[in-house]
Amino acid sequence: MTFRLLDPSPEAPAAAVAQVIVGDYGDRERLAELIDGVDVATYEFENVPVEAAAWMALRVLVAPPPVALEAAQDRLNEKTLFDEVGLPVPPYAAVSSTDDLVAAIDTVGVPAILKTRRLGYDGKGQAVIREPGDADTAWRAIGEVPAILERLVTFDRELSIIGARGADGATAFYPLVENVHRDGILRITRAPAPDLPDDLQRRAEDHARAVMDELGYVGVLAIELFQVGGDLLGNEMAPRVHNSGHWTIEGAATSQFENHLRAIGGLPLGPTDPKGPCAMINLIGTASPAATLVAIPGAHVHLYGKAPRPGRKLGHVTVLADDPATLERRIAAVLAAMEA
Ligand code: AMP
Repeated sequence: MTFRLLDPSPEAPAAAVAQVIVGDYGDRERLAELIDGVDVATYEFENVPVEAAAWMALRVLVAPPPVALEAAQDRLNEKTLFDEVGLPVPPYAAVSSTDDLVAAIDTVGVPAILKTRRLGYDGKGQAVIREPGDADTAWRAIGEVPAILERLVTFDRELSIIGARGADGATAFYPLVENVHRDGILRITRAPAPDLPDDLQRRAEDHARAVMDELGYVGVLAIELFQVGGDLLGNEMAPRVHNSGHWTIEGAATSQFENHLRAIGGLPLGPTDPKGPCAMINLIGTASPAATLVAIPGAHVHLYGKAPRPGRKLGHVTVLADDPATLERRIAAVLAAMEA
């Protein structure tokens, strides 16, 4: 396969491996250049305008379908979709004014979290409401834009499920993974998630399959979940390859990237089995000592060629081991090297 890319920045990391057209995602001339002669168009960023994807879809095969972008770009659409396919979610209500917010606090209860419907990620565009009196401050904090109020749930941990669906409807799922965040940004993924209750994998797969079937999805999809005891709640979804699936490059029989390309290219999906206990650690903010990191047994370092900036994901390290205890020692070694 060969690739052509559209990115607003000439410094797009993918420029290292493919032709990049620099332009806005909404620029029709650039979009026309992008799809000229291609077999399929896809995206790996969920804030591509739905109109741009829909415009391309009239001219070329676009996968995942624009309807998936539409669902993922708006938290209210996303929660409604989860509800419709039977994936439980925290209690929530739509909010478009302070009056709505006061009413929503009444129905949803406190503590709660107010989230902008659009363009929030990594904890941005969110305000926690501990008591009804916090309503005005929270509404101002998120910029007085359409939002949803969600009950703050006390979860045991955050998990995600990543699956691929082909045009023929066949699906394949990676094991549930456990995600640890710091300052709202994914820091560590453990794959498979340790100590999973019986049956959770199957239920997560059933939910993800229901979401994909509903959307006529083709490609890789990630759903972020909260585990509460033996139950799963849906938080959000990403219609693309996902940071919590980067471990699959070295840690699974077929990586999420390859399975995405297989799915959108009309090829059979590859096996998703993990090779053993594995972790992915994001390199965030500052340049990391690659030479020290690659010296750690089982570690594989990926640097994206991005300029360091606080809170920016600059790369990741995958760590493999034969057993969970060794994996934990290796994770500790990676974290120590990053902080040294
Ligand atoms: P989000 O942008 O929706 O993924 O939210 C960012 C982070 O905030 C999540 O990874 C959770 O750690 C936390 N969070 C979001 N929604 C809730 C909720 N309803 N209850 C508890 N924590 C939440």
